[in-house]
Amino acid sequence: MDLSGFLSVIQVKRLEVQTDPQDTSCYSYDASNLESLPAAVIFVKNTQEVSTVLEAANYFKIPVTPRGAGTSLAGGTIVAPGGVVLSLTQMNKILEIDEENLTATVQPGVITFDLHRAVEKLGLFYPPDPGSVKMSTLGGNIAVNAGGPHCFKYGVTKDYVLGMEVVQANGKVIRFGGKYIKNVSGLDLGSLFIGSEGILGVVTEATLRLIPLPEIQRTLLAVYNDLDAASETVSDIVRNKIVPATLELMDQVSMQLIEKARPANLPLDAAAGLLIAVDGPADQVAKEMKVVEAICLRNGAREVRVARDDAEQEKLWEGRRSANGAMSQNCKAFIVEDTSVPRTMLPEMVRRIKEIAGRYNIPCAVLGHSGDGNVHPHLLLQELTEDEWARADKAVDEIFRAALDLGGTLTGEHGIGLVKKKYLNWQFSSDALELMRLLKVTLDPNNILNPNVLL
Ligand SMILES: Cc1cc2nc3c(=O)[nH]c(=O)nc-3n(C[C@H](O)[C@H](O)[C@H](O)COP(=O)(O)OP(=O)(O)OC[C@H]3O[C@@H](n4cnc5c(N)ncnc54)[C@H](O)[C@@H]3O)c2cc1C
Repeated sequence: MDLSGFLSVIQVKRLEVQTDPQDTSCYSYDASNLESLPAAVIFVKNTQEVSTVLEAANYFKIPVTPRGAGTSLAGGTIVAPGGVVLSLTQMNKILEIDEENLTATVQPGVITFDLHRAVEKLGLFYPPDPGSVKMSTLGGNIAVNAGGPHCFKYGVTKDYVLGMEVVQANGKVIRFGGKYIKNVSGLDLGSLFIGSEGILGVVTEATLRLIPLPEIQRTLLAVYNDLDAASETVSDIVRNKIVPATLELMDQVSMQLIEKARPANLPLDAAAGLLIAVDGPADQVAKEMKVVEAICLRNGAREVRVARDDAEQEKLWEGRRSANGAMSQNCKAFIVEDTSVPRTMLPEMVRRIKEIAGRYNIPCAVLGHSGDGNVHPHLLLQELTEDEWARADKAVDEIFRAALDLGGTLTGEHGIGLVKKKYLNWQFSSDALELMRLLKVTLDPNNILNPNVLL
């Protein structure tokens, strides 16, 4: 590892770089509880610069962590010792919106919400909407195959990536896919890079699929005195062949903390709430809202509140999106997990999370994109003593065991990152892990790309 050799190339090529810890220290963190100070942060403006950085890093064997907005909850941007950050935030242009082919071509540093706004003005829709939508970048979304509330009906990020440009660890640039929907030519390299958490290559451009913007969206909040009844409702809605645009579960702790941080008129005495949005043509939405309301009531909802207008609807969603911030204001640190189980197992998963957290005496808020079985338990740490961390670690272990027992997975959308690496062999056989390692070694023989993460 020769950092000074690497930095001298970066200087000769006149790339923007910071090395003073006063400037770089904020790149030590993401939204996980981990930190590690990078040796340098390099800000790239185009694909050529990314290629230059990786070629030099590969030669001097410097670990490189690609970084978008740094909102990873899994420690995906925590640099390896002696490593540098490759910041993609200045590559933030929407290069083209093609209204006839229904595509958008973007650089990786575009904030997801900026794409939403740009295409919505044209009556188009890019559905993936992580809770971090106003901060996170499309490159980061692709690198973890991000989800969000809309993914129940519309699918996750990978369902919208048609083409990509990727810079490999050796600096070589490859492109695959394009503006076409159907494509079975060659191996599907896109699926290799999507969700690979920056360990196989750096995404420098993407062509994304757009769809027509639904005519209207309406939101309701179903209020329950019983958490089980709320999670049982989810399956009943789907059994009735209704696929709402979103189907979000919040338990009492979540609603109380959200309400304290960002009042949205959530009921503080209720055990749970389901935030459900239905979208489509106006007449169909009106019909489906009535059916959803009836299903909630027959599953034990004590009340169903339909948002009267767009402002009330947005207030509810802003509240939901602010959940992580709300949690952080009410504890010294929190651990958010991201298990995903078959939808029918959701009620059992929620019950087990509550039971496990209770047994280890850790306050726990549960919310999640329950329509697709994706549950986020938030363990709210109050003391940060060794004993509390140890209890939390054990609780997390048991939560993962429960998710795998119920036929689920360790992470639905946040990625493995640094945080969940130790659990990978609980989910995958040694042969499967060996194949993953073989791919990594083939694409990155010097192990420079995000070597801390995933494997
Ligand atoms: C409040 C809050 C709510 C959230 N809600 C959701 C949610 O609902 N759904 C969800 O899926 N996630 C959610 N997240 C997690 C996080 O926002 C997502 O993982 C997001 O996709 C990360 O984007 P980013 O730009 O911040 O990427 P970063 O955090 O910067 O990076 C994430 C990973 O991608 C890699 N990476 C970044 N850019 C590139 C690139 N161009 N090429 C290759 N690798 C790259 C990094 O090395 C890292 O491993 C939430 C986070 C917060 C803080």
